[in-house]
Order: sequence, then C-alpha cells, then structure tokens
Amino acid sequence: MKVRFAPSPTGYLHIGNARTALINWLFAKAAGGAFLLRMDDTDAERSTDAFADGIREDLAWLGLTWDEEASQAARLGRYAEVGAALAASGRLYACYETPDELEYKRRRQRARGLPPVYDREGLTLSAERRAELEAEGRAPHWRFRLDHADTAWDDLVRGPQSYHGGHLSDPVVRRADGTWLYMLPSVIDDADFGVTHVIRGEDHVTNTAVQIQMFQALGAAVPVFGHVPLITGPGGAGMSKREGSQAVRDFRAEGIEAAPMLAMLATLGTAEAADPRADRNALVAGFDIRHFGRSQPQFDPAELAMLNARYLHGLEFAAARAGLAAAGLGAADEAFWLAVRANLGRFADAREWWAVIHEPLAPRIEDAEVCAAAAAALPPEPWDETAWSALAEAAKAATGKKGRALFHPLRLALTGRENGPELKLLLPMIGRARAFARLMGETA
Ligand code: GLU
Repeated sequence: MKVRFAPSPTGYLHIGNARTALINWLFAKAAGGAFLLRMDDTDAERSTDAFADGIREDLAWLGLTWDEEASQAARLGRYAEVGAALAASGRLYACYETPDELEYKRRRQRARGLPPVYDREGLTLSAERRAELEAEGRAPHWRFRLDHADTAWDDLVRGPQSYHGGHLSDPVVRRADGTWLYMLPSVIDDADFGVTHVIRGEDHVTNTAVQIQMFQALGAAVPVFGHVPLITGPGGAGMSKREGSQAVRDFRAEGIEAAPMLAMLATLGTAEAADPRADRNALVAGFDIRHFGRSQPQFDPAELAMLNARYLHGLEFAAARAGLAAAGLGAADEAFWLAVRANLGRFADAREWWAVIHEPLAPRIEDAEVCAAAAAALPPEPWDETAWSALAEAAKAATGKKGRALFHPLRLALTGRENGPELKLLLPMIGRARAFARLMGETA
C-alpha cells in the first residue's frame, strides 16, 4: 500500500495542503503503507527550489515524514517516452488550433446551445493538412483521446462516482512548447511508483475519470481514489493558497505548535473533537477516512489559537523545554513553567512572565496601606508556596481588608499587572528583596 502527497512547489505549504498531506500520512500509517512525497514541478517558471525546501521543512516540522521522494522535473524523459507510446497507439493526438481558434469554436457551440466539448478536429486531419499546418510554423499540442463510455469508481469519501467520457473534452496533456500539463505525468508517476491510493482534494474529482482512463491506456492498475472536501475560512470564505496568512510557516511564526495544528487538521470535517494532547500515534489509532463528511469544513484560526493554548496549558516541562528555548527562555526551569503555562497562548507569551520575575518593573500602588503591611510581614527566605499566604494573612490582619480589596493591590504591586499566574507560585521566584521593594512602591 502506498500513498503520495504531490504539492506543486509554486508556493509554501498552506493549511489545506497540510491537511491533504496529513490525511495521506495517517492513511498510510494506519495501514502500514508507504508515503511518497512528489514535487509536481513541471511548471518550470513558477516552481522554485526555495518553495520545495520550504514544503519539506514544513512537513518535517509537522512530523509528516516521507519514505520516498520524487520530482516530476527529473522525469521529463519518461513522460516523453510514454507520450510517444500513447501517440503510437492512437491515445494521444496532435492538434493545431490556436487559443483564439478554440475560443471561437466554443463560442459557436454555446450559441447553438451545445456544450463546449472539443470537436476532435485534430483526429480528422490528413497527413497533408498536418504538413501544411506545420509548414505555417504551427507546433502541435497533444490531447488524450477519451473513451466515450462511463468511467466509474468507488470513492473512499464520496462513494460511487461515474462520469461519461462523451461529456468531457479530450484533455490537452502537452503544450505546443513541449511542456506537460499536470494530468498525464501524475498518472505515469502513480503507475511507475506503485501508488495504490490517491487521496486528494475535491477540486480534483473532475480529473479522476480522465485519469482512470489514462491508467487503463497505460495498462496500469487503477488506484483507489478518495476526495476530501476542501476547507473554507470562517463563514465559508474561500481559502486561496496565495493568501500568505494561510501558510503553515506563518502560523508557526505566530507561535502555533505542530501538535495542535495536527490535531485540528486530523479532525476538521469529521464529528471528532480535536485533542491537542493527542500524539501522532493516537491520531493514527483514531484515524478512519470514512469519518470525513461530504460538506466543506470551516477552518477558524481563532479555534487553532485556542487549541494551541490548551496544548500549552497541559504540557509537561520536559516537552516544553525546546519551545521555551526557542522563545529565548532556555534558562527557564520546571517551577517557572508550571507557574506560567496556564497563562500562555504561545511560548513567546512566557517572556512577559520571565521579565516580571527577573527584570525591574514599576509597581502599581493601588492601596499603599495593604502593600506596606505585606512588606512588613515578608517571612525570611528560603520561600516556598507558603510565603504568599503568610504575607496575605498578615496584610489582612493588619488592615482588615479581604478578598479583591486585599489581593488586587498586592498583585498590582508585585507584578504590575491585573492578572497572571498564581502569586503563590510567582512569589518564590520574584524573591524577597524584589518583592519588598515593589510593595514599597520602588521600581525593582
Ligand atoms: N500537484 C497537484 C495539486 O497540488 C496534485 C494533485 C493530485 O494529488 O493528484 O493540486
């Protein structure tokens, strides 16, 4: 069993592509199959090495490892060879119309109430006529001759599907300049690499009948197909891969971690709830392609941000170290992590609490009496979690204040902020000298 993920390196991996990659990866892992990464880079003008590297990097960041890699640009000789064989057997044929001529034909068909299906003029050209056209300087483009029969498949997601070849134009597979369109090279690759399952976005469902006929023309086994609905933005808005904000690396730069992103992508479009703490093995164990529905799921970046926060809130220190280090907090210890994790939306937010503990800040004195009473009652160090209750109790006894009237001024003085991690956890890290100065209204 082998699946493939076939991005075009004409841009960075966006969230929709990442989902297709993940579904393929989970499908392969759940069945003990192999995962092929194929760069669909026949478009030499728009494909770049930098985008291909970026896609590999993003897949690796997500942990979607591949067993094998291929590049279409490296296989042009193979496509030419197969193309020649298909031309010899009459499945590819040369056409000479210019784009304007084709447009004129379509307009005439529409005016007569006919569907704009290619009239196969190329098939009827005599050898003399072809020679004449070539003498005019026209180079042929090539079309695949479809069988005018029903082509059916049982889609893993959509169930039984069928298209009649007579309703479709014979697709152009090779342009007059010799470059290949996506359709046939993809089939040649899937056949040569032994791909058994093609799982991809619904935008390709109309290609499938054509591609099945191509597999048959090559004498190759037809893979199983599955087409998952494309995701949309909140409110059903379109998600274009050209929107930079949908790039996996942009979410990453904003502090989204791989685990919550995977959890969200694995469950989007299913009835399952995303569990950001599920590791990859759990995702594999829970995966079933039949869980994906037919309607277009909505991807909401705000939900991803929430999952990210939930992920951090439950993260053990050992698993948090790398993220802390990447946020410039390589010196953070477990006590710090456990104190602050519930207040984070992303690792970088921890910097604020690190600064509250380790850097001078201007305290905000809302109630000098409460603060002075607390300062006078600071127990000697070393401090543990009981230091906080000792000073709060003393301030309460001295001033008669309690509840918010007691805690709010103390928090403002000690941290300069309205809200934050539990003071009993922060206070031992802030330390006696700094706590005293802040309670007395000094920058410390
Ligand atoms: N390169 C194509 C795309 O990104 C691949 C389609 C397919 O999976 O067959 O849309």
